[in-house]
Amino acid sequence: MRIDVNWDRCAGNGLCEFETDKYFEVHDDGTLDVQQWEVDGGDEQQVRRAVAACPTEALSLIE
Ligand code: SF4
Repeated sequence: MRIDVNWDRCAGNGLCEFETDKYFEVHDDGTLDVQQWEVDGGDEQQVRRAVAACPTEALSLIE
């Protein structure tokens, strides 16, 4: 499973990082960095929570 970002939709509010800072880091200027695109086995639930937490639906998962 892989993370996909619609960059036009990202508002830089950091809610994804709040769910898992292993995968997402949002800088003070609101720039999002994806730390790791491929989701490790066992991390599926926390990454799904981060995707669900994004209020602008900028995140999705490619199975
Ligand atoms: S939760 Fe969504 S809008 Fe907020 S930083 Fe993460 S990807 Fe961007």
